[in-house]
Amino acid sequence: MPRIYFTCQYCGARAWAWRPEGQVPKYCSKQCKDRAQAGRSLRPVKWPITPEIHEQIKRVYQESTGNGEVQALAERLGYPRGRISHYAENQGWGSLGLD
Ligand SMILES: [Zn+2]
Repeated sequence: MPRIYFTCQYCGARAWAWRPEGQVPKYCSKQCKDRAQAGRSLRPVKWPITPEIHEQIKRVYQESTGNGEVQALAERLGYPRGRISHYAENQGWGSLGLD
């Protein structure tokens, strides 16, 4: 098998790999391949709102007394607070003046 030299299509690094003649790899590493493929999806979601999380956010925004419950939820989920408040605003729950 010949050593094929190529340029990574994701990070641009020069790399090489053992490949059958004519088969040029696209990416220098699995990380680059994964990132390139992840970037191809229409909207990469870093902190996905699952139905379960949706319900938890909804509850906080609709029933909260405003005592830092949004912050507490964010910490419990490990999500940025802004992710949750933006989501709530998009759902029309964000006008309660909660901090
Ligand atoms: Zn690369």
